[in-house]
Amino acid sequence: MTRVVLKDLTRHFGNVVAVDHINLEIESGEMVAFLGPSGCGKTTTLRMITGLLLPTSGDVLFDGKSMLTVPTEKREAVMVFQKHLLFPTMTVGQNVGFGLRMRGEKKANIEARVKEMLELVQLPGFETRKAHELSGGQQQRIALARALIIKPRVLLLDEPLANLDANLRLDMRELIRNIQQEMGITSIFVTHDQEEAVMLADRVALMFEGVLQQYDTSRAFYDRPRTAEIARFFRNDNFLEGVKRGNQVETCLGTLSIPNNDGQPDGPVLVTVRPENVELGVSGNGNCVEATVQNNVYMGTHTQLLLNVADNQWHAQGPADYQVQPGDTVSIHLPESHIWLLPRE
Ligand code: ATP
Repeated sequence: MTRVVLKDLTRHFGNVVAVDHINLEIESGEMVAFLGPSGCGKTTTLRMITGLLLPTSGDVLFDGKSMLTVPTEKREAVMVFQKHLLFPTMTVGQNVGFGLRMRGEKKANIEARVKEMLELVQLPGFETRKAHELSGGQQQRIALARALIIKPRVLLLDEPLANLDANLRLDMRELIRNIQQEMGITSIFVTHDQEEAVMLADRVALMFEGVLQQYDTSRAFYDRPRTAEIARFFRNDNFLEGVKRGNQVETCLGTLSIPNNDGQPDGPVLVTVRPENVELGVSGNGNCVEATVQNNVYMGTHTQLLLNVADNQWHAQGPADYQVQPGDTVSIHLPESHIWLLPRE
């Protein structure tokens, strides 16, 4: 079990600042996702943790000890890549046992551990198959078994599911999460898919352009995003300008009551309510405003609505059989408990 700390971690490539003074702490046994759009510095951060890349400045600490002078092979941080990178001519057993052979372990011990690992990744009895004969999903499982057999201090996964089709992805997500929890291994994985990050990770580190934006539980990114940009990344672009005074916000649509715990000082703010929390067809109570329907799309399980709310485009969800036409006026309720305030951009 290893606690990982990144301290002011920075990496430049010429004029490009790929990673910019990142500070974060990953507890022993925790699973953290590095999330962000393409090019935001996720892989570069991962590579600095493994030692494949040195930082321009800052530090990587395992259990309080700086890793800067510790070479990759001694860090015991193994990386599973997007492309499986198995040795194609070796058998599955030889691939999985590779790390233990390099350590000079006894043959009988290696065989027993390989068997154990193949059971763990749900491919028992695959020892004698050739790596190149396996499907993509099977290869990814073998890559995971090969990484885990040496009982690494830290497991690093670089978009491990990117090459798999949708159903396999779901299976692999579950498998990775179960194994990670069973082994209690400190793990970091890279993804640009927010759903994947939320499903797999205890905490998510969201990065934009090399800068850590928010490091928090999955829930917090939905309920308490720090900025409108972060809210947008988590598919919420419902915003309304207002001015906060105490427990109220003045907007052009009237005064809204807000919860106590929004964290914003009095003054200009953006009011937001996630699409799934906007209540349709409720009028008369406090926090009700008028909206015009711009568009409605039947989604099978629900109806997705695009609304005009005081010249802002808002999304909301109605029941699957919701009867509404573009141009209709609907009253929407913004429940106080679901209102969140953001700084104006
Ligand atoms: P993706 O999701 O597309 O893999 P990422 O978030 O992992 O992206 P990085 O691969 O870490 O991003 O790249 C961060 C920035 O650093 C990018 O602008 C990239 O072009 C640049 N970069 C990464 N590696 C190098 C390199 N070896 N030489 C020069 N620039 C690099």
